[in-house]
Amino acid sequence: MATPNDPAIRSFVPVAGDSHFPIQNLPFGVFSRSSCGGPRVGVAIGDFVLDLKVLAEAYLLKGKVLEPDFFRRQQDLNEFMGRGPAARLEVRRLISDLLRQDAPTLRDNGALREHALIPRAEVRMHLPARIENYTDFYSSKEHATNVGIMMRGPQNALMPNWLHLPVAYHGRASSVVISGTDIPRPHGQTKADDAPTPAFGPSRNLDFELEMGFFVGPGNELGRPVPIGQAADHIFGMVLVNDWSARDIQKWEYQPLGPFLAKNFATSISPWVVTLDALEPFRIAGPKQDPEPLPYLRSSGNWAYDVQLEVWLQTAKTSTPERISASNCKYLYWSICQQLAHHTINGCNLRPGDLLASGTISGPTPESFGSMLELAWKGTKPFALSSGETRAFLQDGDRVTITGWCQGDGYRVGFGEVTGKILPALAC
Ligand code: MN
Repeated sequence: MATPNDPAIRSFVPVAGDSHFPIQNLPFGVFSRSSCGGPRVGVAIGDFVLDLKVLAEAYLLKGKVLEPDFFRRQQDLNEFMGRGPAARLEVRRLISDLLRQDAPTLRDNGALREHALIPRAEVRMHLPARIENYTDFYSSKEHATNVGIMMRGPQNALMPNWLHLPVAYHGRASSVVISGTDIPRPHGQTKADDAPTPAFGPSRNLDFELEMGFFVGPGNELGRPVPIGQAADHIFGMVLVNDWSARDIQKWEYQPLGPFLAKNFATSISPWVVTLDALEPFRIAGPKQDPEPLPYLRSSGNWAYDVQLEVWLQTAKTSTPERISASNCKYLYWSICQQLAHHTINGCNLRPGDLLASGTISGPTPESFGSMLELAWKGTKPFALSSGETRAFLQDGDRVTITGWCQGDGYRVGFGEVTGKILPALAC
């Protein structure tokens, strides 16, 4: 029997060639719709959501690892994430088998199909997990170098620690929001270089950061690091992340303890979590690491992911979005396994549903820079849009949409999108 990743398998659910959600993907998310009560777990297939609560009630998720009624009770993915790869692989296999073109159980049961397959346009997506902890890394060498050049000049662009460890800060979990959430422009304290004292007001240098993030599966006990060889077993899957950033607030506040209010007003994520299993065919070698990392950060095998990433900007004056950046997850210097191993090496305990993001993913060319800070080089090189407008930072009414996908042979394993619009600052 073909595996769920076999490029040849097809679903009886129609899936367009450029859809992000063919049967080879099967990402997990949490959704609701007004007619059927509270949030529940679903899987995206083509333009539909497969309702796992309905499948569990119909006793169609019978496996050896998870109880058959498991998804009747779940309102988020935390518990499922915590059950680890065996449970995830089992559910993925059961769903793949149910959705295949030649599988009659769901295909030929009109009433059940009607109930279990809901048009995606009719559902509301929620955060996939209760996120108790959020960490943001700084793992793109190109991004760290660009920012370093702007701050310190080309001679000292990378800090001395950067090539030895995946730098990160603890972000704010409570302000992680689902795609589609509007983002009011934050207020804060800023100080111009030539001003004697700081000023207070709405941020004028609002930015996005093109990132990806992963959800932790099974956690680790406090005091027990996860060896890098086991790190992948603690990762459930990945999403797109936009780490909204107020550069003027950041510039004044970040020393000596790092980002704070410049970052914690909002972080947006895409709703569908693409599992490591679906991403397996797109695992490739990452950048060569020189100097060689310390032993606890050394891993064997290929741990970069070939995910094409794009950023689209739509202004209040335009009716269509315009692509302003095209990057790729494969550029990340530090892998997700290295990030997780490093995060736990001091005994820090991760929990199911924790979110660990990559940091801005910039590529080697200016078209692949993952933030406006870099695209417009700290405001010194505003770029032109086809509408005739220019941008150095985000304006009110601007909508930023990040999309990403892996290109297979005749199909895509995609992440959908994460989108958000900048609203004028609220009264303060
Ligand atoms: Mn970031």
